Amino acid sequence: MAEPKENLQMEKIVSLCKRRGFVFQSSEIYGGINGFWDYGPLGAELKRNVKELWWNAMTRQRDDVAGLEATIIMSPAIWKASGHVDTFSDPMCDCKKCKKRHRADQLCEDQGLTLGKNAAGKFELPAGTKCTGCGSTDLTEPRPFNLMFKTYVGPVESDDNVAYLRPETAQAIFAQFKNVLDTSRQKVPFGIAQVGKAFRNEVTPRNFTFRSREFEQMELEFFIKPDEVIEALYGSVASGSSRVCENADDPRSDEARLPQPNWGWQVWHQYWVEERVRFYEGIGLARDTLGFHHQTPEELAHYARACTDILFKFPFSKKDANGKVTGDELEGIAARSDFDLSQHQRFSGKPMGVFDDELRTAWGKLPKEKQDDLWRRYYEHRKNYLTKSAKPDETTEQIQKQATEDANGLAKGQYIPHVIEPSAGVDRLILALIAKAYSETTETDAKGKTETTYVMKFHPRVAPIKVGVLPLLKNKPELVKKALAVRDLLRPWMNVYYDDGGSIGKRYARQDEAGTPFCVTIDFDTLGEKPELLDTVTLRYRDDGRQERLKIAELRDWLLAKIR
Ligand code: ATP
Repeated sequence: MAEPKENLQMEKIVSLCKRRGFVFQSSEIYGGINGFWDYGPLGAELKRNVKELWWNAMTRQRDDVAGLEATIIMSPAIWKASGHVDTFSDPMCDCKKCKKRHRADQLCEDQGLTLGKNAAGKFELPAGTKCTGCGSTDLTEPRPFNLMFKTYVGPVESDDNVAYLRPETAQAIFAQFKNVLDTSRQKVPFGIAQVGKAFRNEVTPRNFTFRSREFEQMELEFFIKPDEVIEALYGSVASGSSRVCENADDPRSDEARLPQPNWGWQVWHQYWVEERVRFYEGIGLARDTLGFHHQTPEELAHYARACTDILFKFPFSKKDANGKVTGDELEGIAARSDFDLSQHQRFSGKPMGVFDDELRTAWGKLPKEKQDDLWRRYYEHRKNYLTKSAKPDETTEQIQKQATEDANGLAKGQYIPHVIEPSAGVDRLILALIAKAYSETTETDAKGKTETTYVMKFHPRVAPIKVGVLPLLKNKPELVKKALAVRDLLRPWMNVYYDDGGSIGKRYARQDEAGTPFCVTIDFDTLGEKPELLDTVTLRYRDDGRQERLKIAELRDWLLAKIR
């Protein structure tokens, strides 16, 4: 595979992924295509499980989230409004000697340097930056490279027909916000969730599937009331600490899981970080395998109020300045203010706000000084947003007029919802699960022959195959018949693998490598050789090889309790 051989553990993982059919290089028979990966039989099941678990946790298990499935190609106006056409780029530079292309910020970072900007705002490589291909310092100045894949809609390849493959799933959610609101009977606070493909023409795809050019995202946009609205309705805004996620024993954790009407953006943000961490814990990524990065004000986008990245300690994750591995991003949870809906309102000319009758009534009962205070704060917030996103021909007077209208709207019960966005990558999560599950043991027997066995210790919830069904012997029709009956009993409920080829030990080993958490063996006792064991099977645990006897009649419910 095209993976650079930097890391032995990654090499082993990549090799197992190919050997066992988790991940293949896309178009491999033609030499592959950089940054694109296919999921083989086991990988496809793993991925399906992960997406379904996310979807269940985020939509079906909740009353306050609705789902969406939008198209990959949308009006290019969406990407103009979102800022992607103008600013969704990475700095790229080339080595003049060996022609190797680099993402300039990563190149600097890998050498302990920081990519700078000159007085004119253009990127500048710090002195001494070397090409990682040939060591030359003769590099071109970094230039922005837009990551969106372009295509044309219809038969004419003209500027008028340009369209983009979506670089994120989120924007469709904002563009359909009103339709979902009108048809789902949801009221703010509520969320819209979507799982789907995203495409980014990454300058340097790397670390196996971690940075791909085609990948999948699982995104939630959770719409909340602005703090001024909460204050008008409930007198004050509940406050919270933004770092609850780092302490599993925090006594506030459980309490923080019950949404309250007086939560402002900070508590909602903290709530979603905690919810997402619990999701990861529930599929086998314990809190100590994760890391957290709270973006600094310099790192935050101008409209964002906070962003916490949930990291996983991948085999390729580097040590920080203190020698600690913090990990690489699995998911970002951002408090994005009302930027996105505001942008679409301005660019489409369609109102994106909501009307809240309770707010209108509450506002009327507020003392004059409270009204003035909230009005002023909302006005300042809107003016700030409008100023930062102003089109070149917009004047200060126009901005002030619009901000005044917005603040007057608040007094009448109208506002644009703010949003908390937990945005996760499916492929990065799959890679994290594979890396976490991977375990190998090398043993030398009495004759000095060494053998390595591999066990993929997936959490039963995500495991591609839930149970292996194995007749002890292939040439005993009664055993085979019974085993097939057990397979058919379980099949409507879970992914079952029937295997009658080779010794029982070999078959267990095959399932261990696939990550199957349980195997059931149908033997002569199942058929009643020992009458008290009639219609029982041997159940074997993958991780420690432990075995126990279980009644066939109880098998389905026993397994369902483990895999759900
Ligand atoms: P990075 O800084 O690593 O490029 P990002 O901050 O640009 O990521 P977001 O735009 O916040 O990523 O996207 C949300 C999630 O989508 C990420 O947390 C990640 O899991 C996933 N993702 C983003 N880019 C890629 C990619 N090129 N390949 C695989 N997954 C990706």
